[in-house]
Amino acid sequence: MESVPTIHFLGAARCVTGSKFLLQTAEGTTLVDCGLFQGLKELRERNWQPFPYPAAQIDQIILTHAHIDHTGYLPRLAKEGFRGQVYCTPSTAELLGLLLPDCGHLQEDDARYAAKKSFSKHSPPLPLFTEQDARASLRLLRPVSFSQPVKLGDGLTFSYHPTGHILGAGSLEIRVGDTRLWFSGDLGRYHDEVMNPPTPGGEADYIFIESTYGNRLHAGRDVSTDLADVINRTVRRGGTLLIPAFAIGRTQTMLYHIRQLEDAGRIPRLPIFIDSPMAVDASALYCRFGREENLKLDLTMTDDDCCPLRCRDTTFVRTPEESKRINDLRTPAIIIAASGMATGGRVVHHLANRLPDKRNTVLLVGYQADGTRGRALSNGDKKLKIHGQFVPVRAEIASISGLSAHGDQRDLLRWLSGFRRAPRRVFLIHGEDDGLNGLSDQVRENLKWPVHIPNHLERVELH
Ligand SMILES: [Zn+2]
Repeated sequence: MESVPTIHFLGAARCVTGSKFLLQTAEGTTLVDCGLFQGLKELRERNWQPFPYPAAQIDQIILTHAHIDHTGYLPRLAKEGFRGQVYCTPSTAELLGLLLPDCGHLQEDDARYAAKKSFSKHSPPLPLFTEQDARASLRLLRPVSFSQPVKLGDGLTFSYHPTGHILGAGSLEIRVGDTRLWFSGDLGRYHDEVMNPPTPGGEADYIFIESTYGNRLHAGRDVSTDLADVINRTVRRGGTLLIPAFAIGRTQTMLYHIRQLEDAGRIPRLPIFIDSPMAVDASALYCRFGREENLKLDLTMTDDDCCPLRCRDTTFVRTPEESKRINDLRTPAIIIAASGMATGGRVVHHLANRLPDKRNTVLLVGYQADGTRGRALSNGDKKLKIHGQFVPVRAEIASISGLSAHGDQRDLLRWLSGFRRAPRRVFLIHGEDDGLNGLSDQVRENLKWPVHIPNHLERVELH
Protein backbone atom coordinates (compact mmCIF):
# COMPACT_ATOMS: atom_id res chain seq x y z
CA MET A 1 0.00 0.00 0.00
CA GLU A 2 1.18 3.49 -0.89
CA SER A 3 2.17 5.53 2.14
CA VAL A 4 3.15 8.85 0.54
CA PRO A 5 0.05 10.78 -0.53
CA THR A 6 -0.03 11.66 -4.21
CA ILE A 7 -2.05 14.20 -6.12
CA HIS A 8 -2.99 13.65 -9.75
CA PHE A 9 -4.09 16.74 -11.69
CA LEU A 10 -7.02 15.57 -13.83
CA GLY A 11 -8.42 19.02 -14.68
CA ALA A 12 -8.11 22.78 -14.16
CA ALA A 13 -4.34 22.40 -14.66
CA ARG A 14 -3.29 25.25 -16.99
CA CYS A 15 -6.97 26.00 -17.74
CA VAL A 16 -9.98 27.30 -15.79
CA THR A 17 -12.42 24.42 -16.23
CA GLY A 18 -12.69 20.70 -15.52
CA SER A 19 -11.54 20.96 -11.85
CA LYS A 20 -10.59 17.42 -10.73
CA PHE A 21 -7.79 16.52 -8.32
CA LEU A 22 -7.28 12.89 -7.40
CA LEU A 23 -5.77 12.43 -3.94
CA GLN A 24 -4.43 8.95 -3.24
CA THR A 25 -3.49 8.06 0.34
CA ALA A 26 -3.17 4.93 2.44
CA GLU A 27 -6.76 5.61 3.52
CA GLY A 28 -8.18 5.53 0.02
CA THR A 29 -8.80 7.55 -3.11
CA THR A 30 -10.55 10.92 -2.96
CA LEU A 31 -11.52 13.12 -5.88
CA VAL A 32 -11.59 16.84 -5.03
CA ASP A 33 -14.13 18.46 -7.37
CA CYS A 34 -15.61 16.76 -10.42
CA GLY A 35 -15.88 19.50 -13.01
CA LEU A 36 -16.78 19.63 -16.66
CA PHE A 37 -14.30 21.01 -19.22
CA GLN A 38 -15.69 24.00 -21.12
CA GLY A 39 -14.41 26.47 -23.72
CA LEU A 40 -11.85 25.36 -26.32
CA LYS A 41 -12.75 22.31 -28.38
CA GLU A 42 -9.62 20.43 -27.29
CA LEU A 43 -10.73 20.94 -23.68
CA ARG A 44 -14.35 19.94 -24.28
CA GLU A 45 -13.17 16.76 -26.00
CA ARG A 46 -11.55 15.68 -22.73
CA ASN A 47 -15.07 15.20 -21.30
CA TRP A 48 -15.50 12.40 -23.82
CA GLN A 49 -12.17 10.66 -23.24
CA PRO A 50 -12.08 7.64 -20.90
CA PHE A 51 -11.57 8.79 -17.31
CA PRO A 52 -7.86 8.35 -16.43
CA TYR A 53 -8.67 6.29 -13.30
CA PRO A 54 -11.26 3.51 -12.76
CA ALA A 55 -14.38 5.33 -11.55
CA ALA A 56 -15.45 2.42 -9.34
CA GLN A 57 -12.17 2.61 -7.40
CA ILE A 58 -12.70 6.20 -6.23
CA ASP A 59 -13.87 6.05 -2.62
CA GLN A 60 -15.38 9.51 -2.31
CA ILE A 61 -15.71 12.91 -3.91
CA ILE A 62 -15.51 16.24 -2.07
CA LEU A 63 -16.96 19.25 -3.93
CA THR A 64 -15.87 22.83 -3.19
CA HIS A 65 -18.97 24.50 -4.70
CA ALA A 66 -21.80 24.04 -7.17
CA HIS A 67 -20.49 25.66 -10.38
CA ILE A 68 -20.54 23.22 -13.32
CA ASP A 69 -16.80 23.56 -13.98
CA HIS A 70 -16.38 22.01 -10.49
CA THR A 71 -19.31 19.53 -10.49
CA GLY A 72 -20.67 18.91 -14.00
CA TYR A 73 -18.76 15.67 -14.64
CA LEU A 74 -20.37 13.94 -11.64
CA PRO A 75 -23.29 12.34 -13.57
CA ARG A 76 -20.84 11.00 -16.15
CA LEU A 77 -18.54 9.55 -13.48
CA ALA A 78 -21.53 7.93 -11.75
CA LYS A 79 -22.54 6.49 -15.13
CA GLU A 80 -19.02 5.07 -15.44
CA GLY A 81 -19.34 3.22 -12.14
CA PHE A 82 -18.54 5.64 -9.31
CA ARG A 83 -20.64 4.58 -6.30
CA GLY A 84 -19.09 6.42 -3.34
CA GLN A 85 -20.38 9.35 -1.33
CA VAL A 86 -20.20 12.91 -2.63
CA TYR A 87 -19.62 15.48 0.11
CA CYS A 88 -20.71 19.09 -0.31
CA THR A 89 -22.19 21.90 1.80
CA PRO A 90 -25.99 21.86 2.35
CA SER A 91 -26.71 24.79 0.01
CA THR A 92 -24.39 23.32 -2.64
CA ALA A 93 -26.49 20.14 -2.53
CA GLU A 94 -29.65 22.19 -3.16
CA LEU A 95 -28.01 24.17 -5.95
CA LEU A 96 -26.82 20.95 -7.61
CA GLY A 97 -30.43 19.78 -7.60
CA LEU A 98 -31.05 22.66 -10.02
CA LEU A 99 -27.76 22.69 -11.93
CA LEU A 100 -27.02 19.07 -12.76
CA PRO A 101 -30.43 18.09 -14.23
CA ASP A 102 -30.38 21.33 -16.23
CA CYS A 103 -26.89 20.49 -17.51
CA GLY A 104 -28.11 17.01 -18.55
CA HIS A 105 -31.11 18.57 -20.25
CA LEU A 106 -28.82 20.94 -22.20
CA GLN A 107 -26.60 18.01 -23.24
CA GLU A 108 -29.67 16.24 -24.60
CA ASP A 109 -30.85 19.40 -26.40
CA ASP A 110 -27.42 19.91 -27.98
CA ALA A 111 -27.30 16.27 -29.12
CA ARG A 112 -30.78 16.59 -30.67
CA TYR A 113 -29.83 19.88 -32.34
CA ALA A 114 -26.61 18.38 -33.71
CA ALA A 115 -28.61 15.42 -35.06
CA LYS A 116 -31.02 17.79 -36.84
CA LYS A 117 -28.25 19.92 -38.34
CA SER A 118 -25.95 16.88 -38.62
CA PHE A 119 -22.78 18.76 -37.63
CA SER A 120 -21.78 16.24 -34.96
CA LYS A 121 -19.06 13.69 -35.54
CA HIS A 122 -20.88 11.22 -33.28
CA SER A 123 -23.50 9.37 -35.26
CA PRO A 124 -26.15 9.53 -33.95
CA PRO A 125 -25.03 12.43 -31.68
CA LEU A 126 -25.09 11.41 -28.02
CA PRO A 127 -25.37 13.49 -24.85
CA LEU A 128 -22.47 13.23 -22.38
CA PHE A 129 -25.18 12.39 -19.84
CA THR A 130 -28.94 12.82 -19.65
CA GLU A 131 -31.19 14.68 -17.24
CA GLN A 132 -32.09 11.29 -15.77
CA ASP A 133 -28.39 10.41 -15.22
CA ALA A 134 -28.01 13.74 -13.42
CA ARG A 135 -30.99 13.09 -11.14
CA ALA A 136 -29.60 9.63 -10.32
CA SER A 137 -26.23 11.12 -9.31
CA LEU A 138 -27.92 13.53 -6.85
CA ARG A 139 -28.67 10.54 -4.62
CA LEU A 140 -24.94 10.27 -3.85
CA LEU A 141 -24.76 13.74 -2.21
CA ARG A 142 -23.94 13.95 1.51
CA PRO A 143 -24.33 17.50 2.88
CA VAL A 144 -21.76 18.67 5.45
CA SER A 145 -21.88 22.01 7.31
CA PHE A 146 -19.06 24.56 7.33
CA SER A 147 -16.30 24.07 9.93
CA GLN A 148 -17.58 20.61 10.87
CA PRO A 149 -14.67 18.16 10.52
CA VAL A 150 -15.58 14.92 8.74
CA LYS A 151 -13.57 11.77 9.36
CA LEU A 152 -13.17 9.57 6.30
CA GLY A 153 -10.86 7.02 7.89
CA ASP A 154 -8.23 6.82 10.63
CA GLY A 155 -5.87 9.26 8.98
CA LEU A 156 -8.12 11.30 6.71
CA THR A 157 -10.34 14.23 7.73
CA PHE A 158 -11.64 17.32 5.99
CA SER A 159 -13.63 20.47 6.71
CA TYR A 160 -15.11 23.38 4.76
CA HIS A 161 -14.36 27.10 5.23
CA PRO A 162 -16.50 29.77 3.47
CA THR A 163 -14.92 31.64 0.53
CA GLY A 164 -17.64 34.10 -0.50
CA HIS A 165 -17.83 33.52 -4.30
CA ILE A 166 -21.36 31.96 -4.38
CA LEU A 167 -23.81 30.41 -1.94
CA GLY A 168 -22.32 27.23 -0.50
CA ALA A 169 -18.75 27.86 -1.71
CA GLY A 170 -15.95 26.64 0.51
CA SER A 171 -12.25 26.07 0.62
CA LEU A 172 -11.26 22.62 1.71
CA GLU A 173 -8.86 21.72 4.51
CA ILE A 174 -7.78 18.07 4.29
CA ARG A 175 -5.56 16.27 6.78
CA VAL A 176 -3.79 13.11 5.70
CA GLY A 177 -1.98 11.86 8.81
CA ASP A 178 0.31 14.76 9.72
CA THR A 179 0.18 16.32 6.27
CA ARG A 180 -2.16 19.25 5.78
CA LEU A 181 -3.59 20.14 2.38
CA TRP A 182 -5.71 23.16 1.56
CA PHE A 183 -7.72 23.58 -1.64
CA SER A 184 -8.93 27.14 -2.15
CA GLY A 185 -11.90 26.24 -4.34
CA ASP A 186 -12.99 29.48 -6.04
CA LEU A 187 -12.20 32.54 -3.93
CA GLY A 188 -14.54 35.52 -3.80
CA ARG A 189 -13.52 39.15 -3.32
CA TYR A 190 -12.66 41.06 -0.16
CA HIS A 191 -14.90 43.98 -1.17
CA ASP A 192 -18.32 42.82 -2.28
CA GLU A 193 -21.73 44.12 -1.29
CA VAL A 194 -23.55 40.77 -1.35
CA MET A 195 -20.94 38.15 -0.45
CA ASN A 196 -18.58 37.96 2.52
CA PRO A 197 -14.80 37.88 2.02
CA PRO A 198 -13.09 34.46 2.08
CA THR A 199 -12.20 33.21 5.57
CA PRO A 200 -8.45 32.99 6.12
CA GLY A 201 -6.65 29.65 5.92
CA GLY A 202 -4.94 28.09 8.95
CA GLU A 203 -1.89 25.90 8.54
CA ALA A 204 -1.00 23.95 5.44
CA ASP A 205 1.90 21.98 4.00
CA TYR A 206 0.47 22.17 0.48
CA ILE A 207 -1.85 24.86 -0.81
CA PHE A 208 -3.78 24.49 -4.09
CA ILE A 209 -5.00 27.93 -5.10
CA GLU A 210 -7.14 29.10 -8.01
CA SER A 211 -5.43 31.65 -10.30
CA THR A 212 -8.28 32.91 -12.52
CA TYR A 213 -7.33 36.59 -12.08
CA GLY A 214 -3.74 35.89 -10.96
CA ASN A 215 -2.36 38.62 -13.25
CA ARG A 216 -5.14 41.18 -12.97
CA LEU A 217 -6.54 43.80 -10.63
CA HIS A 218 -10.24 44.61 -10.76
CA ALA A 219 -10.92 48.29 -11.45
CA GLY A 220 -10.69 50.17 -8.16
CA ARG A 221 -13.56 52.50 -9.03
CA ASP A 222 -17.13 52.09 -7.90
CA VAL A 223 -18.80 49.44 -10.07
CA SER A 224 -22.23 51.03 -9.69
CA THR A 225 -21.04 54.11 -11.62
CA ASP A 226 -19.82 51.94 -14.50
CA LEU A 227 -23.05 49.97 -14.44
CA ALA A 228 -25.23 53.10 -14.37
CA ASP A 229 -23.24 54.54 -17.31
CA VAL A 230 -23.64 51.47 -19.49
CA ILE A 231 -27.37 51.15 -18.71
CA ASN A 232 -28.07 54.86 -19.32
CA ARG A 233 -26.24 55.09 -22.63
CA THR A 234 -27.98 51.92 -23.90
CA VAL A 235 -31.38 53.39 -22.92
CA ARG A 236 -30.52 56.67 -24.71
CA ARG A 237 -29.91 54.71 -27.92
CA GLY A 238 -33.25 52.92 -27.43
CA GLY A 239 -31.39 49.63 -27.09
CA THR A 240 -31.53 46.55 -24.89
CA LEU A 241 -28.82 45.49 -22.46
CA LEU A 242 -27.99 41.78 -22.60
CA ILE A 243 -25.97 40.32 -19.73
CA PRO A 244 -24.65 36.75 -19.99
CA ALA A 245 -24.47 35.55 -16.38
CA PHE A 246 -24.40 32.34 -14.39
CA ALA A 247 -27.98 31.70 -13.16
CA ILE A 248 -26.53 31.17 -9.72
CA GLY A 249 -24.53 33.88 -8.02
CA ARG A 250 -23.92 36.41 -10.78
CA THR A 251 -27.62 36.83 -11.62
CA GLN A 252 -28.51 37.57 -7.98
CA THR A 253 -25.63 40.03 -7.60
CA MET A 254 -26.55 41.82 -10.84
CA LEU A 255 -30.14 42.18 -9.63
CA TYR A 256 -28.88 43.62 -6.36
CA HIS A 257 -26.77 46.29 -8.10
CA ILE A 258 -29.49 47.21 -10.61
CA ARG A 259 -32.07 47.47 -7.81
CA GLN A 260 -29.74 49.80 -5.85
CA LEU A 261 -29.38 52.06 -8.91
CA GLU A 262 -33.16 52.07 -9.47
CA ASP A 263 -33.87 52.97 -5.85
CA ALA A 264 -31.29 55.77 -5.95
CA GLY A 265 -32.88 57.14 -9.15
CA ARG A 266 -29.61 56.78 -11.07
CA ILE A 267 -31.22 54.72 -13.86
CA PRO A 268 -34.82 54.61 -15.13
CA ARG A 269 -36.99 51.76 -13.91
CA LEU A 270 -36.71 49.18 -16.71
CA PRO A 271 -38.34 45.85 -17.40
CA ILE A 272 -35.85 43.17 -16.41
CA PHE A 273 -36.09 39.65 -17.78
CA ILE A 274 -34.31 36.86 -15.97
CA ASP A 275 -34.42 34.34 -18.76
CA SER A 276 -33.61 31.25 -16.79
CA PRO A 277 -35.95 28.78 -15.12
CA MET A 278 -33.08 28.05 -12.77
CA ALA A 279 -32.47 31.61 -11.62
CA VAL A 280 -35.87 31.94 -9.93
CA ASP A 281 -35.27 28.75 -7.95
CA ALA A 282 -31.71 29.83 -7.17
CA SER A 283 -32.95 33.20 -5.88
CA ALA A 284 -35.36 31.36 -3.57
CA LEU A 285 -32.44 29.28 -2.28
CA TYR A 286 -30.44 32.43 -1.54
CA CYS A 287 -33.30 33.48 0.75
CA ARG A 288 -33.74 30.02 2.26
CA PHE A 289 -30.03 29.94 3.20
CA GLY A 290 -30.21 33.67 3.93
CA ARG A 291 -27.85 33.57 6.90
CA GLU A 292 -25.17 31.35 5.43
CA GLU A 293 -21.59 32.30 6.30
CA ASN A 294 -20.95 33.28 2.66
CA LEU A 295 -23.65 35.96 2.60
CA LYS A 296 -23.06 39.49 3.78
CA LEU A 297 -26.75 40.47 3.63
CA ASP A 298 -29.23 38.67 5.86
CA LEU A 299 -31.85 37.49 3.36
CA THR A 300 -33.98 35.35 5.68
CA MET A 301 -36.70 37.86 6.42
CA THR A 302 -37.28 39.18 2.92
CA ASP A 303 -40.41 38.65 0.85
CA ASP A 304 -40.54 39.15 -2.93
CA ASP A 305 -41.26 42.85 -2.72
CA CYS A 306 -38.48 43.95 -0.41
CA CYS A 307 -35.92 41.31 -1.42
CA PRO A 308 -32.75 43.25 -2.32
CA LEU A 309 -31.96 40.56 -4.91
CA ARG A 310 -34.98 41.46 -7.04
CA CYS A 311 -35.68 44.59 -9.08
CA ARG A 312 -39.00 46.45 -9.16
CA ASP A 313 -40.11 45.17 -12.57
CA THR A 314 -38.56 41.70 -12.75
CA THR A 315 -39.97 38.93 -14.94
CA PHE A 316 -38.65 35.44 -14.33
CA VAL A 317 -38.97 33.60 -17.63
CA ARG A 318 -39.56 29.88 -17.40
CA THR A 319 -40.82 28.45 -20.69
CA PRO A 320 -39.04 28.53 -24.08
CA GLU A 321 -42.16 30.22 -25.57
CA GLU A 322 -41.90 33.11 -23.09
CA SER A 323 -38.17 33.29 -23.84
CA LYS A 324 -38.84 33.59 -27.59
CA ARG A 325 -41.42 36.34 -26.98
CA ILE A 326 -38.62 38.53 -25.57
CA ASN A 327 -37.18 38.58 -29.11
CA ASP A 328 -40.08 40.79 -30.25
CA LEU A 329 -39.39 43.39 -27.57
CA ARG A 330 -37.95 46.55 -29.18
CA THR A 331 -38.06 49.00 -26.25
CA PRO A 332 -35.26 49.41 -23.69
CA ALA A 333 -34.96 46.50 -21.27
CA ILE A 334 -32.38 44.39 -19.50
CA ILE A 335 -32.09 40.67 -20.24
CA ILE A 336 -29.99 38.48 -17.96
CA ALA A 337 -29.51 34.93 -19.24
CA ALA A 338 -27.13 32.01 -18.73
CA SER A 339 -24.55 30.79 -19.46
CA GLY A 340 -22.05 33.33 -18.17
CA MET A 341 -19.47 32.71 -20.92
CA ALA A 342 -22.18 32.25 -23.61
CA THR A 343 -21.07 28.67 -24.23
CA GLY A 344 -24.69 27.48 -24.16
CA GLY A 345 -28.09 28.17 -22.67
CA ARG A 346 -30.67 30.75 -23.69
CA VAL A 347 -28.21 33.65 -23.87
CA VAL A 348 -26.94 32.20 -27.15
CA HIS A 349 -30.29 32.83 -28.87
CA HIS A 350 -30.45 36.33 -27.40
CA LEU A 351 -26.97 37.06 -28.75
CA ALA A 352 -28.03 35.92 -32.23
CA ASN A 353 -31.01 38.27 -31.98
CA ARG A 354 -29.38 41.32 -30.33
CA LEU A 355 -25.80 41.45 -31.65
CA PRO A 356 -26.63 42.74 -35.17
CA ASP A 357 -28.29 45.95 -33.82
CA LYS A 358 -25.88 48.75 -32.84
CA ARG A 359 -28.34 50.25 -30.32
CA ASN A 360 -27.91 47.21 -28.03
CA THR A 361 -25.17 46.44 -25.53
CA VAL A 362 -23.76 43.11 -24.42
CA LEU A 363 -22.28 43.49 -20.94
CA LEU A 364 -19.67 40.94 -19.82
CA VAL A 365 -19.43 40.70 -16.03
CA GLY A 366 -17.47 37.51 -15.36
CA TYR A 367 -14.30 35.74 -16.46
CA GLN A 368 -14.45 34.72 -20.14
CA ALA A 369 -12.39 31.59 -20.75
CA ASP A 370 -10.33 31.05 -23.88
CA GLY A 371 -12.40 29.58 -26.72
CA THR A 372 -15.78 30.79 -25.44
CA ARG A 373 -18.10 33.18 -27.29
CA GLY A 374 -17.71 35.55 -24.34
CA ARG A 375 -13.95 35.69 -24.91
CA ALA A 376 -14.45 36.27 -28.67
CA LEU A 377 -16.71 39.23 -27.87
CA SER A 378 -14.31 40.71 -25.31
CA ASN A 379 -11.48 40.32 -27.88
CA GLY A 380 -13.49 42.53 -30.26
CA ASP A 381 -14.41 39.88 -32.86
CA LYS A 382 -16.68 41.39 -35.49
CA LYS A 383 -18.65 38.22 -36.09
CA LEU A 384 -19.62 35.36 -33.84
CA LYS A 385 -20.31 31.76 -34.79
CA ILE A 386 -23.65 30.62 -33.41
CA HIS A 387 -25.02 27.19 -34.33
CA GLY A 388 -22.92 26.94 -37.46
CA GLN A 389 -23.68 30.46 -38.76
CA PHE A 390 -21.85 33.78 -38.45
CA VAL A 391 -23.72 36.62 -36.72
CA PRO A 392 -22.38 40.19 -37.23
CA VAL A 393 -21.36 42.00 -34.01
CA ARG A 394 -22.66 45.59 -34.26
CA ALA A 395 -23.86 45.99 -30.66
CA GLU A 396 -21.62 47.70 -28.09
CA ILE A 397 -19.55 45.20 -26.10
CA ALA A 398 -18.85 46.41 -22.56
CA SER A 399 -17.31 44.73 -19.55
CA ILE A 400 -17.12 45.48 -15.83
CA SER A 401 -14.51 43.41 -14.01
CA GLY A 402 -15.48 44.68 -10.55
CA LEU A 403 -18.62 42.51 -10.65
CA SER A 404 -16.66 39.29 -10.89
CA ALA A 405 -17.33 36.49 -8.39
CA HIS A 406 -13.58 35.83 -8.31
CA GLY A 407 -10.98 37.73 -6.35
CA ASP A 408 -8.22 39.52 -8.25
CA GLN A 409 -4.45 39.18 -7.80
CA ARG A 410 -4.47 41.29 -4.64
CA ASP A 411 -7.33 39.22 -3.15
CA LEU A 412 -5.56 35.94 -3.93
CA LEU A 413 -2.34 37.14 -2.28
CA ARG A 414 -4.29 38.41 0.71
CA TRP A 415 -5.87 34.99 1.20
CA LEU A 416 -2.44 33.30 0.97
CA SER A 417 -0.97 35.77 3.48
CA GLY A 418 -3.60 34.63 5.99
CA PHE A 419 -1.89 31.25 6.47
CA ARG A 420 -0.01 31.06 9.76
CA ARG A 421 3.21 29.66 8.29
CA ALA A 422 4.87 29.07 4.95
CA PRO A 423 3.71 25.89 3.18
CA ARG A 424 6.14 23.42 1.65
CA ARG A 425 4.70 24.24 -1.75
CA VAL A 426 1.91 26.19 -3.43
CA PHE A 427 0.26 24.65 -6.49
CA LEU A 428 -1.33 27.14 -8.86
CA ILE A 429 -4.43 25.70 -10.50
CA HIS A 430 -7.61 26.91 -12.23
CA GLY A 431 -5.95 29.57 -14.37
CA GLU A 432 -4.81 30.25 -17.92
CA ASP A 433 -1.14 31.03 -18.68
CA ASP A 434 -1.27 34.79 -17.95
CA GLY A 435 -3.07 34.32 -14.64
CA LEU A 436 -0.82 31.46 -13.52
CA ASN A 437 2.43 33.24 -14.43
CA GLY A 438 1.27 36.52 -12.88
CA LEU A 439 0.38 34.90 -9.57
CA SER A 440 3.50 32.70 -9.60
CA ASP A 441 5.77 35.78 -9.85
CA GLN A 442 3.93 37.50 -6.99
CA VAL A 443 4.05 34.47 -4.66
CA ARG A 444 7.79 34.00 -5.29
CA GLU A 445 8.63 37.69 -4.88
CA ASN A 446 6.33 38.70 -2.02
CA LEU A 447 5.91 35.54 0.01
CA LYS A 448 9.12 33.73 -1.03
CA TRP A 449 7.22 30.42 -1.12
CA PRO A 450 8.02 27.58 -3.54
CA VAL A 451 5.48 27.52 -6.37
CA HIS A 452 4.57 24.86 -8.89
CA ILE A 453 2.25 25.14 -11.91
CA PRO A 454 1.16 21.57 -12.69
CA ASN A 455 0.45 20.27 -16.19
CA HIS A 456 -2.66 18.34 -17.18
CA LEU A 457 -2.38 14.74 -15.91
CA GLU A 458 0.79 15.49 -13.91
CA ARG A 459 1.19 13.44 -10.74
CA VAL A 460 3.06 14.72 -7.70
CA GLU A 461 4.10 12.97 -4.47
CA LEU A 462 3.36 15.01 -1.36
CA HIS A 463 6.16 14.28 1.09
ZN1 LIG B 1 -17.03 29.01 -9.20
